[in-house]
Amino acid sequence: MHLARETVELLVQTAIACHPSDDQRGMRDREWTALRFLARANRFSRTPSALADYLGSTRAMATQIIKILEERSLVVRRPSDRDKRSVVLCVTAPGERLLAQHDPIRGVVDAVATLVTADCVKLRDSLHAILNRIDTPLPQAKAGSCRDCIFLSQGRRASEFQCRLHRAPIMAGETDLLCTSFERADSGSRPG
Ligand code: SF4
Repeated sequence: MHLARETVELLVQTAIACHPSDDQRGMRDREWTALRFLARANRFSRTPSALADYLGSTRAMATQIIKILEERSLVVRRPSDRDKRSVVLCVTAPGERLLAQHDPIRGVVDAVATLVTADCVKLRDSLHAILNRIDTPLPQAKAGSCRDCIFLSQGRRASEFQCRLHRAPIMAGETDLLCTSFERADSGSRPG
């Protein structure tokens, strides 16, 4: 139990390091979280309702956050290719630059990146396992990527996949993007 407590205390310290109280470029935590999500989300999840799901907020709150990001030219709305009545939220070049240079989690990301790959994978998988065992997980913990999702099936070629939920092709480069429709599959069904 002592080891578990010590580990959680270190996790708390790591989380605090991701939320510095000083300069955050005039952005609040939830705006950073939204921008970070939109930069990593797949085409089905870059929508106002998926963002609301991810943040665990109301649709009105998500709309307000999108408005702030749009006013700062960090995000733009584009008509969806799949449904012209819907919009897709796209992170702009200044938005990508802001994330690359000033995202508050950057210091921790850089520190994790210094681990050897095997340790990094072990840490990631352990954190996934912990989040899956918590009774009331954060809404963010429900999002995941195609490579771990029950709805992903193999396409005709090795580099092509299909989403059975959205009935759409998924290219190999999209399998690591975040999706709010995600349902975890057994690890044995992951693409290589
Ligand atoms: S396979 Fe799963 S994660 Fe990927 S787009 Fe479909 S529902 Fe989303």
